[in-house]
Amino acid sequence: MRRPVFAANWKMNIGPTEARAFMAAFTAKWTPRADRSLIFFPSALSLGTVVHALAGRSDIAVGVQNIWTEDKGAFTGENSAPIAAEAGARYTLVGHSERRHIFGETDEQTAKKCVAAVRAGLTPILCVGELLEEREQGITHDVVLRQLTAGLRELSDETIASMAVAYEPVWAIGTGKNATPEDASAVHRFIRDALIERSGIAGESTAILYGGSVNSTNCASLRAADHVDGLLVGGASLDVDTWARICGT
Ligand code: PEP
Repeated sequence: MRRPVFAANWKMNIGPTEARAFMAAFTAKWTPRADRSLIFFPSALSLGTVVHALAGRSDIAVGVQNIWTEDKGAFTGENSAPIAAEAGARYTLVGHSERRHIFGETDEQTAKKCVAAVRAGLTPILCVGELLEEREQGITHDVVLRQLTAGLRELSDETIASMAVAYEPVWAIGTGKNATPEDASAVHRFIRDALIERSGIAGESTAILYGGSVNSTNCASLRAADHVDGLLVGGASLDVDTWARICGT
């Protein structure tokens, strides 16, 4: 999955009506490009609308923002991976910092969610990243390695080769403070080495995305940073023109 990836995380924004209008405007503006992959992560409630709006646009994929560890049953309010796949999702985020820090998602759960994703035919994008105080304590690498090791624990090398990891420093998400290209590059290099240590040559194929306050001004330098294979974008993906500009970098 080393082709550059541009992933839009709409978080808890954009209902079906707005999603339909967004997709009509975006697909009119965005010409398919073979040199990159685009993925939208709408709210689960807008996922069907987005899938429907993208019929005939195989260049743009849809993912679900979160899944539960089990396929079905008494888990009120949760998203099942097989149901998400049936609804048209091809990807899922796992371990997004808002899941970890607002909803208490554990490393153990991220491991199970990655397995549930693969079982359902979804490609996981495992999110990792340190809190500000962890960066200040100089333990960024320890935190990232712990999250990475746990999340990938049950996955085959083949899966690891075809999935993505998103490095998203928690202090950079939704704060307007992005990592510098140099900071992102250094952590991405560390992640790449850890993937190769874990999975040998397969670890060279995993895409490593940067996320955290990417916007239309900083996207080019972050995208161009060494070892950055793509971008995962929240706030700046909510505007059609801004998102199209970012996808074009
Ligand atoms: C995200 O939600 O993954 C994210 C990176 O958000 P933002 O771009 O708004 O910081």
